[in-house]
Amino acid sequence: MNRSQPEANAVPPEEGARGGTMGSPALRSLPVADRPRRPEWMKVRAPSADSRYFEVRELLHGQRLNTICEEARCPNIGECWGRGTATFQILGETCTRACRYCYVHSGKPGSPPDPLEPLRLAQAAAQMGLRHVVVTSVDRDDVPDRGAGHYAATIRALKKKLPEASVEVLTPDFLGVEEEALATVLAARPEVFNHNIETVRRLHRKMRGAKASYDKALWLLRRAKELAGYPVLTKSGIIVGLGETNDEVVETMTDLREHGVDVVTIGQYLQPSSRHAPIDRWVHPDEFRWFREQGEAMGFGSVFSGPLVRSSYRADEQRHAAETGRGAVAH
Ligand code: SF4
Repeated sequence: MNRSQPEANAVPPEEGARGGTMGSPALRSLPVADRPRRPEWMKVRAPSADSRYFEVRELLHGQRLNTICEEARCPNIGECWGRGTATFQILGETCTRACRYCYVHSGKPGSPPDPLEPLRLAQAAAQMGLRHVVVTSVDRDDVPDRGAGHYAATIRALKKKLPEASVEVLTPDFLGVEEEALATVLAARPEVFNHNIETVRRLHRKMRGAKASYDKALWLLRRAKELAGYPVLTKSGIIVGLGETNDEVVETMTDLREHGVDVVTIGQYLQPSSRHAPIDRWVHPDEFRWFREQGEAMGFGSVFSGPLVRSSYRADEQRHAAETGRGAVAH
């Protein structure tokens, strides 16, 4: 999508709102104050009756599995489930953090991790015929290992049940037990280690709270690569529309690249409820294209940058692009 948009450098600067300052040609963001309704490039497809959407939903609900697709009210659910893919959310439904942009329920989890969840998940992934399985979770600051052992058990179950499939984990920050948790997860050898930085340095604490740290996120990504002992791909994601400038986005991309990150995703923030952070701007498709070009020049293996891009959106293609040197891709 969006490939028919005019080139970034054809955008007249006077249409600009909150773009960058240092030579960014992409000055076409729409401030939400001027344009509260979704622009046309944010429109999504509804699930169609002849897609796999309903089959996937029945299978996941039947196995009592959570997905970030549903928990975060992802706009791509019709497309992704319709293609027969989904992103599993392990370790329960309740997150011990309360990031200002995230719809996942936060509070005190009522139960410990379910030891049978990895097996049910692997069974469902096999039934779905997945070739690339993406697993994420809520934060579990209440569990001594922060859920690292559960991640490892899930990866092992998947590799046993689906030996041909690759596994991608999108982990929390493992607050206070980072080194041990990384070692535990990486010992199970996921092909992709993903940890989202989420936003730029200036907004990180405001959006993610005092427990999270921009520098710790960068450290985690670099340390994962150092500890892996095999060629793991590292990946991170940025949400735009939270009040950052385009130059700050590029600074964050630079930070990620300097910490060895291979794949980056950039997508538009959508306010999930009135209790969450307001949207600051609708970032124009030309600006997303400009981010991709910047990332390409920095040497990322893959840059997925587009209004509806999410960390797990077409994750199989992101991995393939990075591994085959197909370069950056935008949607
Ligand atoms: S983009 Fe990710 S979270 Fe959203 S529906 Fe697709 S797989 Fe699920």
